[in-house]
Amino acid sequence: MRNFGKYVLSAVTGGVIGAAATWLWSNRPGTARLMGSWGNYPKVAAQLHTFQTIAELRQILKNVHSAIPRGNGRSYGDSALAPHMISSLNYNKFLSFDTQAGIIHCQAGVLLSEILEVTVAKGWFLPVTPGTKLITVGGAIASDVHGKSQHKAGNFSDHLVSMELMLADGSIVTCSPEQNNELFWTTCGGMGLTGVILSATMHLIPIETAYIRQESLRADNLDHLMDLFEESESWMYSVAWIDCLTKGNGMGRGYIMRGEHATLTDLAGDSRRKYPLEPRWKPKLIVPFDFPEFFLNSFIIKAFNFVLYHKNPKKVVKSVIDYDEFFYPLDVIYQWNRIYGPRGFTQYQFILPTENSRAGMKAIMQKITDSNMGSFLAVLKLYGPQRGYLPFAMAGYSLALDFPIRDGLFDFLDELDKLVLSYGGRLYLTKDARMSAAMFKETYPQLETFLQNLQQINPNDKFRSRQSDRVGLTK
Ligand SMILES: Cc1cc2nc3c(=O)[nH]c(=O)nc-3n(C[C@H](O)[C@H](O)[C@H](O)COP(=O)(O)OP(=O)(O)OC[C@H]3O[C@@H](n4cnc5c(N)ncnc54)[C@H](O)[C@@H]3O)c2cc1C
Repeated sequence: MRNFGKYVLSAVTGGVIGAAATWLWSNRPGTARLMGSWGNYPKVAAQLHTFQTIAELRQILKNVHSAIPRGNGRSYGDSALAPHMISSLNYNKFLSFDTQAGIIHCQAGVLLSEILEVTVAKGWFLPVTPGTKLITVGGAIASDVHGKSQHKAGNFSDHLVSMELMLADGSIVTCSPEQNNELFWTTCGGMGLTGVILSATMHLIPIETAYIRQESLRADNLDHLMDLFEESESWMYSVAWIDCLTKGNGMGRGYIMRGEHATLTDLAGDSRRKYPLEPRWKPKLIVPFDFPEFFLNSFIIKAFNFVLYHKNPKKVVKSVIDYDEFFYPLDVIYQWNRIYGPRGFTQYQFILPTENSRAGMKAIMQKITDSNMGSFLAVLKLYGPQRGYLPFAMAGYSLALDFPIRDGLFDFLDELDKLVLSYGGRLYLTKDARMSAAMFKETYPQLETFLQNLQQINPNDKFRSRQSDRVGLTK
């Protein structure tokens, strides 16, 4: 028995050492390995270069023929994928924080979560934040991200004072809406194609507490949900979860969550008022391995949507919740993307102009409910316009849907593209993994100006990604 125990122990130890050696060998510097971003689709053989100093970055640029900057890999598809990727994650120092004016200056590899850790305690919050805080400042600028406040506060770039960028020739340029403004607006939302963003200075907004006063309202169908959005336009934050499997009169039923930063008065009589800028610690969960492909079948997706819709019998629920719970509910489950299994998933996020939103959303939802392709999670949001040359947003509604990669999916999404196009809409680059160059060209009206600017800034396509080649932003 003792020998058997020893045998098992040495087999396990041998296995662990073997796995570690394989990992170290396949990740040794200078080796390409298969890498994906958040959707785990596609995966490319890539070499990841990291830098901590300007000199190291210049050397990388000298050594590679072409590359794409990369932040924390939270874009879903291939925006940050290429055979050579330049990670900013080790270039992540705070440079200054003016706690009187609410202005912060940091290197591009700093995560939004790290900014909030420093600033919330001092009574300042990010004016724009997406549905995850685990992204870098560089990634936030290059995708010009938006959040639940887009209809009121615009995009990330609207709150930038200035940024520094390393161009293809290794030179460093400062740009802002006033200085080198063409470079600035080509870089905001420019998907890393103008150069490596090194640092940024940005405005924050003042807060009295780390909490959000939230109202959650249940809607019976899509029209009802859109009415509630329009009624909620004066709220700083709004977003809706929508059940995209129910057909008939209940199609598009869901919940809208609207919120405002809670004041001290909102916390009156509440124990949380004692330390209003210190949210309580919450446990984190982890998905430790890729789920098997059969896990996310249509039965599970339907059951999940049913439970979510019926979880609260009341039409309106009011609460005061901490900012993590309101803005980043998905960040609580680390690596939740693994539930989609080894083939990964893609997020299909489109936007339609206001005048076509109701008819267009209904036509597209009808196609989705008929297809049985059902998305686990679908998020609807009201938008305003966006600046820059490759803006995703416009006044209208956007719907974001997650689809596991499976046979026939891309043919189905091509069909959805046709509908999006016919209603005057477009797809979001930072979520995309498969849009055609033709679709991109037809739906991004300022593409020509962007390309002319890019020709000046990045003439030899030194910065390029799998996505930029696919959609025709690089050759
Ligand atoms: C759960 C979840 C929720 C999300 N919710 C939203 C949302 O509500 N709104 C929204 O707008 N987005 C959302 N996103 C998308 C995400 O905010 C963007 O994809 C963001 O750009 C990711 O930043 P990153 O640091 O991970 O960059 P990466 O994914 O690594 O790169 C994204 C792009 O930025 C470029 N880039 C990165 N760093 C630099 C740099 N230093 N210099 C130049 N270019 C650079 C890359 O080349 C690439 O084109 C969400 C993503 C997830 C996973």
